[in-house]
Amino acid sequence: MPELPEVETVVRTLRPQLMGRTIRAIWASGLPLRMRRRVDSAALRDHCLGATVRAVYRRAKYILIDLERRGRSSGTLVVHLGMTGRLRVDRARAARDKHTHVAWTLLGGDELRFVDARRFGLVLAAGHERSLSEIRQLGPDAYDALVARELDLSLTKSAAPIKSFLLDQRRIAGLGNIYACEALFRAGIHPRMPACRARGRAALLAAAIRETLEIGISNAGTSFRDFVDVNGEAGTNLDALLVYGREGEPCASCGRPIRRIVQAGRSTFFCARCQKR
Ligand SMILES: [Zn+2]
Repeated sequence: MPELPEVETVVRTLRPQLMGRTIRAIWASGLPLRMRRRVDSAALRDHCLGATVRAVYRRAKYILIDLERRGRSSGTLVVHLGMTGRLRVDRARAARDKHTHVAWTLLGGDELRFVDARRFGLVLAAGHERSLSEIRQLGPDAYDALVARELDLSLTKSAAPIKSFLLDQRRIAGLGNIYACEALFRAGIHPRMPACRARGRAALLAAAIRETLEIGISNAGTSFRDFVDVNGEAGTNLDALLVYGREGEPCASCGRPIRRIVQAGRSTFFCARCQKR
């Protein structure tokens, strides 16, 4: 599943391809995507048709594209890649992949396409990102330099295991299973430690999160089976992971075997020696 570094990689690749481009036609498959929600074609046309892209950015794992008509905002396009979603720019005359669910034809002969085999992705358009509950509910962005101060406050209010706390998008937005495991290892914090007890280490944890995400972004994301960037390139971060997916392998720091436990139905990988309760 694409996490924050993968989404950031997509945004950085799409930005120069889309900035200043005008949408002249929209097509949608009509098939339901995430939570059985169908793409609202009328809303897409309302906000996108004839509009020009003025910004491409990211909020947690959402890709946001701001649009304008005649110099005034015409809304924001919001895309979540789900598990297998891809957002890419192709030549409009090139055949569409059979899993294409939305296509925005651009002036000049290109087409922005949302392709999603498993259909857990999401495509929305609204007047403003804040009018979407999906975006409004998000906590501070995990990659934001200011997250340390907010973490300090929110850690005290939670008795949940720190690993679960980090995955709660209302607490801190953008972290998924892979980077939560990696950040906890780098911070030397046991994944089962209650969040409130990790409070004194908020700055350390925030720095570990930032470092983990930065490495992920510089490696253009972690590719397991599905993630490839806009140009179809696989990311190379898999080799840089220190604990995730490495059960039984020696810890890079102490040599003890990496352990795997299950928390809230998800695998957690950690070193029982380096990560203290
Ligand atoms: Zn260790």
